[in-house]
Amino acid sequence: MNPFVFLRPASLDETSGLLSQHGEKAKIIAGGTALITMMKQRLLMPEVLISLERLEECRQIFFANDEIRLGSMMTHQEILTHKRLADQFPVLIETMKSVSNTRVRNVATLGGALAHADPNQDTLVTLLALGAQVNLRNCDDSRILPLSEFFIDYYETKLAPEEIITEICIPMPSAKTGSAFKKFLPRSHEDYGVVSIAASISEHNGTCQNCCIALGCVADTVVRASQAESILIGHPLSKEAIAEAASASTAVTDPISDSRGSRTYKKKMTEVFVRRTLMEAWSRI
Ligand SMILES: Cc1cc2nc3c(=O)[nH]c(=O)nc-3n(C[C@H](O)[C@H](O)[C@H](O)COP(=O)(O)OP(=O)(O)OC[C@H]3O[C@@H](n4cnc5c(N)ncnc54)[C@H](O)[C@@H]3O)c2cc1C
Repeated sequence: MNPFVFLRPASLDETSGLLSQHGEKAKIIAGGTALITMMKQRLLMPEVLISLERLEECRQIFFANDEIRLGSMMTHQEILTHKRLADQFPVLIETMKSVSNTRVRNVATLGGALAHADPNQDTLVTLLALGAQVNLRNCDDSRILPLSEFFIDYYETKLAPEEIITEICIPMPSAKTGSAFKKFLPRSHEDYGVVSIAASISEHNGTCQNCCIALGCVADTVVRASQAESILIGHPLSKEAIAEAASASTAVTDPISDSRGSRTYKKKMTEVFVRRTLMEAWSRI
């Protein structure tokens, strides 16, 4: 690993100032689980690491009437063990349980997961299906970006070099909404999935009012299966309609063949797991 200077600012303002001062030589470090691995492989060689560990303002959680806001420095384990989140967003807890092991969850943060943008990560899929947005800020400005616009490519996002993810906002779902997450993991529990799927469906008088289907592990980024969603939205929910949507969901996939399965197999498993996830989400309404 290359030598680097390690800085521990005490506030967001100070962090933004340091990022602006050091420019492209600097990288933010949160839990370090992804960044340190990349530095050990010399894929990244930052001269300055700016740690967010002292930023208490990024560890808070706010419950508003219409949304919850999760501080970007919240760890996966903090989400997993949060009682009120478990009541309001059980699908988040379900997802966190499938993230690696306690040791990783204890340090890996939500902000780090999003900025890392590996499409094999579980958290991204569920946050996308829940319609989450990220709050980004730099020295002079802040902006809000829906996750559906945040990811560009493998490990690439719209995050500018001097921007920090400060919060992740999740809109409160309508009363008759069900959500589910499923990861197909035929090898070890700590492996990435062959596919991972999250879905959220809202219903009114038997008709699907809203639907969001997010797919992980099967493209360069996590993706929304919009064509599949439109098969359900505005129509009565049924097993047949869900099967049709599951079949259509493979249109946006572009998986690579690797040790977890061939491209054809991953596409087939996408259809199977989208169907199962939608059925589960529907049953939870
Ligand atoms: C052994 C192992 C197993 C894993 N298994 C799983 C799994 O089963 N499922 C799963 O979903 N994930 C898994 N992961 C991935 C894990 O979720 C990510 O590594 C982790 O979430 C990254 O968060 P971090 O806080 O450690 O980020 P860091 O490693 O600190 O940072 C990652 C990147 O994000 C940037 N960054 C961090 N925070 C911010 C911020 N607030 N604003 C802007 N940029 C920021 C950093 O500059 C860096 O580029 C695994 C990782 C490991 C090491």
